[in-house]
Amino acid sequence: MSLSPDVLIIGGGIVGAASAYHLARRGADVLLLEADQLASGATGRNLGYIWVHTRRKGPELDLVMATRTGLENLPDELGVDFGLRCKGGVTYVTSEAQAEVLREFVVRRTADGVPMQLLDGDEARALVPILPETVIAASYCPLDAQVDPRRFVRAFALAAQRHGARIHEGTAARAIETDGRRVTRVQSDLGPLTPGQVVLAAGAWSPAIGRQLGLELPIHPMRLQVVQTEPMAPRLEHLLYGPAAIKQYAIFQGLDSFSPEPFETDIERRLGLALLESACQAADGSYLLGIAMDYPGFDWKPDLAGIALVTEGMLGALPALRGARFARAWAGVLPFTSDALPLIGRPEAHDDVIVAAGHVFGNGAGPTTGRLVADLICGGEPVLDPTPFRPDRPGLEHDFERSTW
Ligand SMILES: Cc1cc2nc3c(=O)[nH]c(=O)nc-3n(C[C@H](O)[C@H](O)[C@H](O)COP(=O)(O)OP(=O)(O)OC[C@H]3O[C@@H](n4cnc5c(N)ncnc54)[C@H](O)[C@@H]3O)c2cc1C
Repeated sequence: MSLSPDVLIIGGGIVGAASAYHLARRGADVLLLEADQLASGATGRNLGYIWVHTRRKGPELDLVMATRTGLENLPDELGVDFGLRCKGGVTYVTSEAQAEVLREFVVRRTADGVPMQLLDGDEARALVPILPETVIAASYCPLDAQVDPRRFVRAFALAAQRHGARIHEGTAARAIETDGRRVTRVQSDLGPLTPGQVVLAAGAWSPAIGRQLGLELPIHPMRLQVVQTEPMAPRLEHLLYGPAAIKQYAIFQGLDSFSPEPFETDIERRLGLALLESACQAADGSYLLGIAMDYPGFDWKPDLAGIALVTEGMLGALPALRGARFARAWAGVLPFTSDALPLIGRPEAHDDVIVAAGHVFGNGAGPTTGRLVADLICGGEPVLDPTPFRPDRPGLEHDFERSTW
């Protein structure tokens, strides 16, 4: 086995797996190392939303739309079912002050070319029967889609292997040795490697690995906690967001009608975490409820306050879930940047390193990031302009502790 692959990819989340697929199908000899299991990081812990309607016009929306455009054909292209459901997303509100913001949002999004509908309470309940009488309006975006994120990663990885990529789980990259602008060796659990290029796709771990290359990557950790029920009826086909989620988003914060107060809740104040009010039903019938958000650092464990916030907050929002049985809870670390765009590209100081990390909305952005990584390495017309994603772009903040997306 060659220990000198054309490309060594560090990290087997959605970004690493999609990069492996696009590089391998273009003929590169690819070796991907995943320290744990594929999708054991943020990707495998996420809700599976491919959320189009909250992405700002410009590079953010372009990145997700490039994925969304080919999404319905992707199971055939990869040859693997990854639980894709394209039923759309619904953001509901329960007060007139919130509804005013939602109305402006729908008008602005429509002007951006994102297909959106404004629904009144009855229309919202007709579409999503578990919504309670307290819901007075909702937005609906038919482009929002859902995947099973673990199967999503495996699908890219299997397709990459069919194109010749080698993927090793339980195999970490340990140390990167450099000589000026070149990587001379990567010490790994497979032994010493001498790759032609290195793709750093290690999500929230990337800053620690980047330091070995002399890079200070401005990627910060945020803890997100999720609660899962046991499988149950009724069937929820759409992806849901509630009012408490709205205040997290830059696109809402930028509206003339927005102020945070109508979206803040007592329970968030009491428990000291923010609620990304969200619910969807996974393919097995279980509900995924979320999300408690805070900033304890690189912390992958859920806590009682987070579980209490999600269970109490979501039972208040969706009383139809009363009686749902608790199955499990988990936390994940979301890597974020100060402008909510990932870092994709070659750092100035290195000729043979590509950074592909810092993704806030990795399900939508990850597959196109993989394409862009392959374009940057193999050449040709890139899928989209890489300039806005450069790891050393101006304005990125290194001491940035709180995220909006
Ligand atoms: C709870 C939660 C909910 C979320 N919900 C959504 C959502 O609904 N929709 C959405 O789009 N995004 C969501 N996100 C964000 C999304 O999960 C991330 O944007 C995405 O997973 C980032 O993918 P990644 O491949 O960069 O990182 P990861 O999935 O974290 O993968 C990085 C991998 O690198 C590996 N690694 C680390 N160090 C090494 C090493 N030295 N050698 C080898 N391997 C190494 C890790 O084991 C890990 O598997 C959510 C995040 C969380 C935490």
